[in-house]
Amino acid sequence: MAWILLIGFLIFLWFVSLCKFLLVSRKTSSNHFMKNGRTHQKRNVLLVVAHPDDESMFFTPAINFLTSSGHNLHIFCLSIGNADGKGNIRKRELFQACAALKIPWQQVKTVDHPDLQDGFGKVWDHNLVAKLIEEEISSLSIDMIITFDNYGVSGHCNHRDVHYGVRKLLHDTSQRDIEAWELVSTNILRKYSGPVDVWLSMCFSILHKNGTMQCFVNKHPRRSFLAMAQHSSQWVWFRKLFVALSSYTYMNTLRKIK
Ligand SMILES: [Zn+2]
Repeated sequence: MAWILLIGFLIFLWFVSLCKFLLVSRKTSSNHFMKNGRTHQKRNVLLVVAHPDDESMFFTPAINFLTSSGHNLHIFCLSIGNADGKGNIRKRELFQACAALKIPWQQVKTVDHPDLQDGFGKVWDHNLVAKLIEEEISSLSIDMIITFDNYGVSGHCNHRDVHYGVRKLLHDTSQRDIEAWELVSTNILRKYSGPVDVWLSMCFSILHKNGTMQCFVNKHPRRSFLAMAQHSSQWVWFRKLFVALSSYTYMNTLRKIK
């Protein structure tokens, strides 16, 4: 009997949380995030990821916020995901996914560098990562970077190396004044709680009143599925399950990198 009550409660909680996404506007997606000095203006944002599909699997709430707010979002993918020899296919899928996410193809770029190949155990040189990102920042007049945190959501070493490359860039170069935000990795319970995690994420963001942590609620969770479905070579049953259950489909919490 207790189990039935618990399951019923969880279904109710899931339903209520989902309603939150469908009915409530993005009030929590915030003021501080897009303020450049004292004025609101269009930002040139560079989302730096490691593999084609990272953008669709992890970052769609932030992407949807940026594109629907009229900011210039550029995607910079540091590999073509060639671990299984499908690099060229995956590169094409990335452009299709970005089209589903309303990002113009001209604002999507991939790198296929021999020292930045997809795979566990492939160590990426942080100096090289920093150098490539710095070139993009200069050529596109980027004023904000978004990337993984030091765990990289899934713990993938390439995700983590991207984070440390951004850190290197901020620490060592003339770009140290650029604003950078990292996607907060959550524990496994929160990660697979789907929309239910919205309550905790919002609490954390409210507790950081200085704006160093921002919660972005996805107004178009369906778009996460549509974008991920463009990655046909990766769209297998366990990734479909991941996208359905993952809290990253429904919200992103970004933390400012100091
Ligand atoms: Zn990845």
